Amino acid sequence: MTQTTAQATESLEYRTEVRQLLDILAHSLYTEREIFLRELISNSSDALNRIQFEMLTNADVVDHDAELAIALRFDKEAKTLTISDSGVGMNREELVQNLGTIAHSGARNFLAGAKEKGAALDEVIGQFGVGFYSVFMVAQEVTVTSRSYRPEDQAWAWRSTGESSYELLPADKSSRGTEILIKLKEDADEFAGGWRLEQIVKKHSDYVSFPIYLVEEEEKEGEEEEKRRVINRRVALWRQPAQGVEAEQYNEFYKQLTFDAEDPQLHIHLITDAPVNLRTLLFVPSRRDRGHLSARSEYGLRLYSRKILIQNHNKDLLPEYFRFVEGVVDSEDLPLNVSREMVQSNPNLRQIRRALSNRIIRELKTLAENDTEKYNRLWQEFGVFIKEGVASDPSSQDSLVELLRFHSSKSAPEAWVTLSQYVERMAGEQEQIYYVLGQDVKSVAHSPHLDYFRANDIEVLYLVDPIDGYMTAMLREFKGKKLQNVDDAGLKLPEKEAETKGETVPQPDFDALVGRVKGVLGERISDVRESRQLVNNPCRLVSPENEFDRDLQRIRRLMEQDYQTPVKILELNRSHPLVRNLSGLVQNDRDNRLIDATIEQLFANALLVEGIHPNPVEMVERMQMLMEAALPAA
Ligand code: ADP
Ligand code: MG
Repeated sequence: MTQTTAQATESLEYRTEVRQLLDILAHSLYTEREIFLRELISNSSDALNRIQFEMLTNADVVDHDAELAIALRFDKEAKTLTISDSGVGMNREELVQNLGTIAHSGARNFLAGAKEKGAALDEVIGQFGVGFYSVFMVAQEVTVTSRSYRPEDQAWAWRSTGESSYELLPADKSSRGTEILIKLKEDADEFAGGWRLEQIVKKHSDYVSFPIYLVEEEEKEGEEEEKRRVINRRVALWRQPAQGVEAEQYNEFYKQLTFDAEDPQLHIHLITDAPVNLRTLLFVPSRRDRGHLSARSEYGLRLYSRKILIQNHNKDLLPEYFRFVEGVVDSEDLPLNVSREMVQSNPNLRQIRRALSNRIIRELKTLAENDTEKYNRLWQEFGVFIKEGVASDPSSQDSLVELLRFHSSKSAPEAWVTLSQYVERMAGEQEQIYYVLGQDVKSVAHSPHLDYFRANDIEVLYLVDPIDGYMTAMLREFKGKKLQNVDDAGLKLPEKEAETKGETVPQPDFDALVGRVKGVLGERISDVRESRQLVNNPCRLVSPENEFDRDLQRIRRLMEQDYQTPVKILELNRSHPLVRNLSGLVQNDRDNRLIDATIEQLFANALLVEGIHPNPVEMVERMQMLMEAALPAA
């Protein structure tokens, strides 16, 4: 290196968060270090996509006619590996911005995960793209030399050993694109080998759409000769006729597209020419949360037009509630020379959206019919999104409701019931579909609201997702049957009295008890009255009749920090032993301290089963007092 270049070398400090990340990566014992290559190739592929897109509208770029490709070179003796591409390249500012700070959200999530106690680093590295910096798992030193596509820019080199700083220096590179020279660590020399590189590319980058060349030096009759061959499959799988594609190819393609380690649960390969041209491959992942944090930093489908990538995460191709779907959409009916923003306002987009969305619904229905077990697994992970769709998309509600699954008072705890099954099982005189809202299946199964329904053998659906209240607010009926919350104070039930056990508290005594309860609970309830439905439980809370947003209260409590659940009506079971004894005590020993404590605790219990107790710990002291009173003296 000449004296002048050395003088032009500048040393810059990394931002703190980069230093932290590098420190973790350099010392990680991650066994699949090979993913660094996936990250670098994916960056090259992004850079190539970007230049391809740029050239649609701009002819004034460096090396306009250069082949869009990636090349891998290695030197066994020097223990080096080089990855180069003819992508957009970077100028000095871009090198500093992109490689000196963490812009990459995967890496930021990774850092958060690493700090989180107990997160298994190994898994976190594999499941996020940690991005460019993952190269320091295998590199002693990295030199990135880049020439931007803009004619006025100059080539620069960026060099770092992965410690606290990096160097910048002017470079001598006339061809467009980026070259990354890696001096491998002593224990990472396996990556300076053709066979190993080819193996890694096949595993992680086979479907990258640009050719990846492996360039090897060969000696031929005493002469050094360069041999280049393409080592990736490079097929646009979504454009292949579905008959020719093996199940395993779909799985591999999915994993390389998403970096997910698990196979997808479902793939949808859709090829049509009318009403719009579409070449599409969609996937439902196996799990909603991959790894410790949700690995997907951004949702959206990859959008191509005529095999040119227009957008990595397009959010307009599907309704928002289908954001768990991954995949690729390629349509020749979307004009190429448009800005990404203009894609949104394209009329064909609406048609594509409808076609994709209908197809997903149809595939889910078919799966539900043909393979209940598999569908239920999918429902377990992604059912909340379907519910969101029912709540937010009136135009698809009719078809989405058929995909809904519920637990119920008449099925085994893990079993799922459809609305159609519920309706088929309804007895002749039953006119409504009953549901109870609650925290989870276990607690809702103990809900006092179910007393009447159990006694009369009427099925009640358990709605235990936070989003359920939102859904029922929008879904009023199914096949002409109204959906009815069982906690409604004005509930009109078939004229079957709940069977009563033993005596009931006489009216004057009951009135006195009601007065006492009102006095103790005050503003915390809106009324106290007798229940006609309770059998096994002493009391329950019901919502004032037709209270406007009562199904939404649950979700609002989760989302709004200082949301106060509106006060409810307390109903008492006049024939329950606890209520009878309490009433007796009010008559005969009105100053007994157990009275108010019992009233408080009954109210607390009712809040608990509703899943709306603001502070359960508050009960401890009172419970201990009541237990003390209940135990015989020693
Ligand atoms: P991400 O790819 O998710 O943005 P990375 O850490 O992998 O995060 O890369 C950081 C940034 O560095 C990229 O966004 C890109 O701007 C730039 N970059 C990395 N490699 C290349 C390359 N080969 N050509 C052009 N730019 C690159
Ligand atoms: Mg990247």
